[in-house]
Amino acid sequence: VLRHSSCTLLCCAALVSSVACGSKKQPPKPRPPTSDAAVTVNNKPRLVVLIVVDQLPSWSFDKQHTFMKSGIGRLLRGGTFYPRAEYPYAITYTAPGHVALATGAPPAVSGILANGWYQRSLGRSVSAVADKEHPIMLVNPAGDTAKNKRKRAYGASAARLKVTGVGDWLRAQTDGKGKAIAVSLKDRAANFVLGQRPNLAIWYDAGQAAMTTSSWYAKQPPPWLLDLAKKKPVSANFNYVWKLASPELTARITGNPDDAPGEGGIYGLTNTFPHSLAKASAAAALRATPVGPLITTQTAIAAVHGEQLGKDDIPDLLAVSYSSHDYAGHTWGQESWERFDLLLHIDKQIGVLLDELDRVVGKDRYTVVLTSDHGVTRVVEQSKQHKRAAHRITTDALMIPLTKACEGVLGKGKWIAAGSASMVYMTAEFHKLPSPRKDKALAAMVAALKAVKGIAYAKRTDQLAGNCATRRGIDALVCRSLAPNESGDIFVAVAPNSIFSGEYKTGTTHGSPNPDDRFVPIIVHTPGGKARVVKGPVSTLRIAPTLARMLDIKPAKTAPAPALVP
Ligand SMILES: [Zn+2]
Repeated sequence: VLRHSSCTLLCCAALVSSVACGSKKQPPKPRPPTSDAAVTVNNKPRLVVLIVVDQLPSWSFDKQHTFMKSGIGRLLRGGTFYPRAEYPYAITYTAPGHVALATGAPPAVSGILANGWYQRSLGRSVSAVADKEHPIMLVNPAGDTAKNKRKRAYGASAARLKVTGVGDWLRAQTDGKGKAIAVSLKDRAANFVLGQRPNLAIWYDAGQAAMTTSSWYAKQPPPWLLDLAKKKPVSANFNYVWKLASPELTARITGNPDDAPGEGGIYGLTNTFPHSLAKASAAAALRATPVGPLITTQTAIAAVHGEQLGKDDIPDLLAVSYSSHDYAGHTWGQESWERFDLLLHIDKQIGVLLDELDRVVGKDRYTVVLTSDHGVTRVVEQSKQHKRAAHRITTDALMIPLTKACEGVLGKGKWIAAGSASMVYMTAEFHKLPSPRKDKALAAMVAALKAVKGIAYAKRTDQLAGNCATRRGIDALVCRSLAPNESGDIFVAVAPNSIFSGEYKTGTTHGSPNPDDRFVPIIVHTPGGKARVVKGPVSTLRIAPTLARMLDIKPAKTAPAPALVP
């Protein structure tokens, strides 16, 4: 509809209520309540975009969204902002988060419990995306080393996902004409953010310093991806130096010094600015710097052109997940200078992406949903509760009393198989014991876990599985994270402000059922929309049905939540 093409979003809204375009002095009349639907019907989107900012908790975005002046700012200025959207399950990691966005289903239904979890049949933990049947492709010849070849052989796919997602619904309901493409630095984000079989998922392989895919999606990498690797090689950024535009402003906004307590480093990057990739393991370290959102956006834009997204009236679907925000959040903390500055860079890169979509697809021909896959807990040393109720819980602090409690009942033996994804897995030998002995041992273990400083909750999972609708509070959240035969025997959760410090002697993490880890923002942006805030909590399981509504397709039965748009 050409009459809209030269107007700003505000002007388009004004057109709907019959105010002449360009009469700036006259304030636009309030739009009638049905105008959202009217605009959508008149201008059916040709492209629906899902943007994920990895690890963006409500508690932090609440304080900082007003500083978003570019892409995120634009979405806020013309969209509905839900500051407190909720993941309704307990194990809050990247893989189940992206799966929930794609499928509208909690882990108990989707089968993706965590980023990786213990597999009883194998006797070890396995990554949720690992798939030896579908090796990762070589896109950059520089990655043709024995080491990278071994790594690529681990493969990646969405094969473990038990339910379909919005990308699958789109392909099935448009006879394959609607395309679904996912881009992220992380394999677990790209592979899960659109469902089982999007047309393509692309992610970053540090071993070859290139964006790549796996044979789950295609026999060969698409030509445009090979082209991108040649024309804009990731290695061109290996001398990048990350500096702050204004350290004074950053200090004021974050309320922290550059080297705040508890901050760590990553791949040779230290805890203070400037961060020079030349002094670090550049190919890996760049993921925690603004180079991450830069190459993510470059790839997303190349995908829009290469796959002809938004070119015809059958809508396409693009998901872009900005992983660097999570790397920075883990390493330096959510309230660090680095993490805040990275969000500003992501804001800018989303602006670049939206500007390109304006040109290629048309300003009023695409819709955007922005959200996150989980929140995060404050750095323990920066918490007001530090040394009183905020603890880094070491693996020993858990496993020593746990083993002691178990052996106190059963005697010495190999009873505990593993601690994995907030769960304790017992061995096959243990499960051969008579029930009363098992019950007594598990009761002693639960009591021992609850006595550990920083632990708030421990319960046998067989007392929590089944119909989650009948459960309340954390019990219901845990129930939605459990799958028969896959979950451990005991679920354990940290208290608010505490973390499991196994991988995080410094920095911080997420994964708990606490609100800091579960609540994230959502922004829903449709053409001609205006800024609106919906303060009450909404479930993130409503995003997949929302995307489906925007694409004019039906969600699967496994995504029963109502859409956020009419
Ligand atoms: Zn994540």
